[in-house]
Amino acid sequence: MSAARLEAGLIQRMPKVLLHDHLDGGLRPRTIIDLAAEQGYRKLPSTDPEALGEWFRRGADQGSLELYLETFEHTVGVMQTRDALIRVAAECAEDLAADGVVYAESRYAPELSTAGGLTLDEVVEAILEGFRIGAARVQGRPIVLRFLATAMRQADRAGEIADLALRHRDAGVVGFDIAGPEAGYPPGRFGVVFGRLVHANFHLTLHAGEGYGLPSIREALDLGAERLGHGVRIVDDIELDTAGTATLGRLAAYVRDRRIPLELCPTSNVHSGAAASIERHPFDLLRRLRFRVTVNTDNRLMSDVSLSGEFAALDAAFGLGLDEIEWLTLNAMKSAFLPFDERLAMITDTIKPGFAALRAERPAGA
Ligand SMILES: [Zn+2]
Repeated sequence: MSAARLEAGLIQRMPKVLLHDHLDGGLRPRTIIDLAAEQGYRKLPSTDPEALGEWFRRGADQGSLELYLETFEHTVGVMQTRDALIRVAAECAEDLAADGVVYAESRYAPELSTAGGLTLDEVVEAILEGFRIGAARVQGRPIVLRFLATAMRQADRAGEIADLALRHRDAGVVGFDIAGPEAGYPPGRFGVVFGRLVHANFHLTLHAGEGYGLPSIREALDLGAERLGHGVRIVDDIELDTAGTATLGRLAAYVRDRRIPLELCPTSNVHSGAAASIERHPFDLLRRLRFRVTVNTDNRLMSDVSLSGEFAALDAAFGLGLDEIEWLTLNAMKSAFLPFDERLAMITDTIKPGFAALRAERPAGA
């Protein structure tokens, strides 16, 4: 463990990669209020940006699933027009770029934005347009953004969403995900849809192994998931003896051997109860065992986090240092759903030179 902790400003300047971030979990409170006024949405608990931001954070941190889900009712509630989606997506690009993120995959369930009459295609087109606008606004901090189309577990539209994702695959939709409650909605019921996506050589990441344990991870992998959304419960298949020596079960060994990326979201996992605290988060064990660990935000508004903030919290708890954050960043870039040559270019042209420049600034031994 390195004694000195990294300064927040330094972490922010590191070229970072984000694979698990929900578009509807990252709105600015001010934007929610503006969009609610424009669309005549009257259900917000407050129209003061500070109080509203505080309300969202309380919902995430109270251990109340109902309150947590209610927070998304309001963000999704104001994401019902083309202009609203463009603004939300553009601000997502701006906020991530300001945090030093150079590549991100943002995900959202398009079926949630059709209540005002938009078609699924119009929803995706508006989001991609917003990403383009936002990325163009942040000239000094280049960011590449791609979209993951999410289908909701509890709904019945996975087939439609898969077709939608494939229609837009050359325009910036690089993968498919399912989200929503794990318990009671096993992904197996979407087996035919996943089979079709795999056959189309499309990318899949599935929310699995967050609230629910090993069976959901096993099922996600059986269905063709290349990455695990959270996947934190893989620790249930690792035994530690009193000396701290780890023995991996078959599934954990498979996940590590195959370099299957784990999209860990530390603060969100604490809020959802999947981990007791940052200090006790399985992140530390999993990275020491050299699983393909990546660090992510999940819902920046509700969890009141940024990617830099997550790295700072992990650095404070485990003494990551610059080298380990670079390793985690390379893990994420290697695991991205961008074509291979573009991933390689991000690594050689942006990430490695960026970390090398920051390393050169620091006095030897720091
Ligand atoms: Zn998530």
